[in-house]
Amino acid sequence: MKQLNNDYRTYQELVEEILECKKCRLWSGRKNAVPGEGPLNAKIMLIGEAPGRMEDLEGRPFVGAAGKLLTKLLSDIGLSREEVYITNLIKCRPPQNRDPLPDEIEACSPYLDRQIRLLMPKIIVTLGRHSTKYILSKCGMRVSSIGQVRGKVFLMKLNNSLIKVIPTYHPAVALYNPKMKIFLEEDFRRIIKKEIDNLSKSKAVTIEDFF
Ligand code: URA
Ligand code: SF4
Repeated sequence: MKQLNNDYRTYQELVEEILECKKCRLWSGRKNAVPGEGPLNAKIMLIGEAPGRMEDLEGRPFVGAAGKLLTKLLSDIGLSREEVYITNLIKCRPPQNRDPLPDEIEACSPYLDRQIRLLMPKIIVTLGRHSTKYILSKCGMRVSSIGQVRGKVFLMKLNNSLIKVIPTYHPAVALYNPKMKIFLEEDFRRIIKKEIDNLSKSKAVTIEDFF
């Protein structure tokens, strides 16, 4: 309980830092920074690219059209949004939703690193090429195209634990490209669901062993 209280305090401090951050140029165009949301003990963390217009207005991740699709992809595999932690690589909206620039990623990604270290999720799903490239670079990989890595499971070692990293396409791309939408649905149904089911199985084994 004490640990959870400490984590909660550390998390609140992190959120406040993000809300006031001016470490890159993107602060000047934002209505709201978007730190992320979800339970601190979530086993699954989803990482998008950056807030869009709706997210900037509301200060919450994935609340626009792409967010609707993400919520549907989750519910199709039996997960509610409230069970997972959702965030982005970049916490403030880039103008006209342009791609984040390398110096913006460099300035902002330490916040994501701190979120991962605090939550220590079992599974990270990266949505789109920017968060995929960033997270897989932590696993020592250079990604040239998301098509090569999507739907595969990578391992990231952190604090003596292994976190499974599963890259897939960004839901915003799938909104305008039916083929991508099928791939995205496949990744959620086949790979992500399987890995989530494995999490609950490994828990059952531990309890049997114990007794
Ligand atoms: N796209 C993202 O990458 N993140 C959001 O929060 C919304 C749309
Ligand atoms: Fe700070 Fe990140 Fe916002 Fe840039 S995008 S101002 S680094 S919170």
